[in-house]
Amino acid sequence: MLRDGVRRLGPLALILLACSGSTGSGEAEQPRIALVIHGGAGTIRPENVSAEREAAYRSALTATLEAGIALLHEGASSLDVVETVIRRMEDDPLFNAGRGAVFTAEGRNELDASIMDGSTSLAGGVAGVTRVRHPITAARAVMEKTEHVLLAGSGAERFADAQGLEMVDPEFFWTERRWKSLERAREREHVGASGGAAAAFGTVGAVALDRDGRLAAGTSTGGMTNKKHGRIGDSPIIGAGTYANSECGVSSTGHGEYFIRFAVAFDICARLRAADLTIQEAADQVIHGVLHEAGGEGGIIALDASGNPALVFNTDGMYRGYALADGQLNVAIFKDK
Ligand code: ASP
Repeated sequence: MLRDGVRRLGPLALILLACSGSTGSGEAEQPRIALVIHGGAGTIRPENVSAEREAAYRSALTATLEAGIALLHEGASSLDVVETVIRRMEDDPLFNAGRGAVFTAEGRNELDASIMDGSTSLAGGVAGVTRVRHPITAARAVMEKTEHVLLAGSGAERFADAQGLEMVDPEFFWTERRWKSLERAREREHVGASGGAAAAFGTVGAVALDRDGRLAAGTSTGGMTNKKHGRIGDSPIIGAGTYANSECGVSSTGHGEYFIRFAVAFDICARLRAADLTIQEAADQVIHGVLHEAGGEGGIIALDASGNPALVFNTDGMYRGYALADGQLNVAIFKDK
């Protein structure tokens, strides 16, 4: 009878019944949406960041989280949200991804990105692209439109172009701030000081959990200042810079060579599955244990399938934030006291 009434009243009554949990199928599931983002880790200390720049990062992170969580509330897929928020950060010169990417030793911007759908274990990435405005969208196209996982260089660019993605002149990525960083790195190298390549990280990343319980993760970067010989970091490497399965999603930032060698993103999810650990404990073990002991610097953001976030780094700071289903939104830059 009730069902007949519903049929007469139409879709609105169905929605109301679903929300009240009185459809006969028990309590309605609460949406467990969550979003966590980073904008890079590194030597980020209060004394190195002007009040103006700190405010700019905080407002960029907050606006990105607000836009992403609103999409999740509307029912967008985790994959769409990860792509959307990363595109937004790729367009923001504050971050070392897309416009604002750091320079190679030859004075070029070579961009890397990857994305993974935890519900299907499909993944895609691009490496060393110089003309694709949104590398994260190219990474998704690799995942969805090819039988491959990772495309590099001019081949990846021809593919992106053929897919109708927005292509730009390499000049588009040039910013004065990053050019000056390259000049400083070259000077340090010239005088034989260490750290020519590894001073500052600034990759962007996102992990989202949607209403259907699907996790997705993505990462996009210009890599490391003064990188040489066509160097590719961890960001486009599945299992190192990005990883997601049905229980766990991770995006990394830091000294990529270490993240590749220790398969950092995968290791965190593997520990979660193998041992009875929380996402926070699994991430702590890898970032403060394995990675730190090896001399690797950086951090990760992660979510588990219940939407619990972990934001862990062994550097001075990490641009980071999360937004949860209950309205909590948190943004931070420096180490917690
Ligand atoms: N992980 C990136 C790379 O090694 C750099 C970063 O996170 O800033 O290319």
